[in-house]
Amino acid sequence: MARFIFITGGVVSSLGKGLMGASLAALLQARGYKVRIRKFDPYLNVDPGTMSPYQHGEVYVTDDGAETDLDLGHYERFTGVPGRQSDNITSGRVYSDIIAKERRGDYLGATVQVIPHVTDAIQSFAKNLTDDLDFVICEIGGTVGDIESLPFIEAIRQLRNDVGVENTVFIHVTLVPYIAAAGELKTKPTQHSVRELTSLGIQPDVLVCRCEHELPEEERRKIALFCNVRKEAVIPALDARSIYEVPLNYHDEGLDREVLRSFGVAPRHAPDLSRWTDISDRFRNPEGEVTVGIVGKYTGLQDAYKSLQEALVHGGFANRVKVNIRWLDSELFEGDEPDLDALEPLHAILVPGGFGSRGSEGKIAAIRFARERKVPFFGICLGMQMACIEGVRAAGTMAASTTEFGTTTEPVVGLITEWMSEKGLEKREEGGDLGGTMRLGAYPAILEAGSRIADIYGTTEISERHRHRYEVNNAYRAPLEAGGLVFSGNSPDGLLPETVERPEHPWFIGVQFHPELKSKPFEPHPLFASFVKAAVKQSRLV
Ligand code: GLN
Repeated sequence: MARFIFITGGVVSSLGKGLMGASLAALLQARGYKVRIRKFDPYLNVDPGTMSPYQHGEVYVTDDGAETDLDLGHYERFTGVPGRQSDNITSGRVYSDIIAKERRGDYLGATVQVIPHVTDAIQSFAKNLTDDLDFVICEIGGTVGDIESLPFIEAIRQLRNDVGVENTVFIHVTLVPYIAAAGELKTKPTQHSVRELTSLGIQPDVLVCRCEHELPEEERRKIALFCNVRKEAVIPALDARSIYEVPLNYHDEGLDREVLRSFGVAPRHAPDLSRWTDISDRFRNPEGEVTVGIVGKYTGLQDAYKSLQEALVHGGFANRVKVNIRWLDSELFEGDEPDLDALEPLHAILVPGGFGSRGSEGKIAAIRFARERKVPFFGICLGMQMACIEGVRAAGTMAASTTEFGTTTEPVVGLITEWMSEKGLEKREEGGDLGGTMRLGAYPAILEAGSRIADIYGTTEISERHRHRYEVNNAYRAPLEAGGLVFSGNSPDGLLPETVERPEHPWFIGVQFHPELKSKPFEPHPLFASFVKAAVKQSRLV
């Protein structure tokens, strides 16, 4: 049976519980264990799919088509284990399942209550599909004391009784703030937060204390004493230079050792951390740097493009260069006489995925700049769609557009209502619900032999993750190809364009899918490695 590690947070939000969990998973993996990480989100949305990236950051899509919390992206980047629908639940999903059952009459007349029905559902989610694992790490979103997280805390308390103390470890992440006027780190908020947690029936085994300064022995001893944990189990967590050094830092502070000790497990062998020391070396000792511009809509909140940002960093690791990202709001490039000066110093331009028409003309202007000036260009999802619209406009059809932005006489991109997936024919209604009506998750694509993209992947058969409603319209294939934009990859039935490229350009590729979701620091995605390589080349020209 798998052992369970539960992570809660206290004092404030944004303490990096997700990164902590991902790092712990990586460390346990490095010791040879099989690990999976899960996220429990206390909000009432059924999934984060309908939430604005401004509110909640990126929606991370899994192979099986789940729209999940961005922490699942960290988990996958740190462990290489692909996330699944069953790795993320929200209160909304738990309640909607329970209410659907209640309406069907499945509860046979019983009164349906938070305890036991909601807490049972949460426990079975935690235990679902865990037989082949050594450890399951479950992160509880939010902060202890929130009304919303109470059922989750109660469920994990019950779960400890159910599977046994020896099979569960509770880790609580808190903040130890530094008060400049006193020149001291303060442990009181941590004490209060642990008191709150114990009042809910949970005594943490390990405390992770985020702090801006070294935690002095005296403070560590004090926290241990007041919070009823061993001094060695008070793990200081200072800010790291790179998120990819966090696993090494936690290992140095003894996190994985303390967790195993709490389980009463003698470590099998020392962890093999070579993967992480290599990444740290690439991060600390770059041999050059390049500047990549991301021209998009949500540039004010970088979490909205978390995986993209990380994939570019990975592309930098692959080429041993530092990638500087310049976030550019595409609306800057709109108007009759757009000022494109901000594009001049860039070594490469990327137009990412997005929804809605705001800023689209600016994206098209940036793509035109990249095409004409032969600057490496990468268009992802909406970015590829815009590159196709730009291509049709370049051939003289100025009305080229997408039906996503309203009715158009030239639907270069349009809504498709039927397509094939592994499950068979999928259908969507023209004015259907926004939630869960997209082409979501992994789909195969066939790449044209001899195309640049096939060369980059080193194969003609790929599978990548999708999240979109609209598709490039095959009816425009001939005029686009006449203008130099080749459809180099397609769905296996040939109906849906998956990738486009300009063979005459140094590096101009558009993809309908989101390759950034599968990039890892220790296995950079080939498209990002190649794109950054093209940026390095470009940097030598300018
Ligand atoms: N808005 C576009 C669509 O729905 C693109 C989506 C995306 O970039 N993820 O097809």
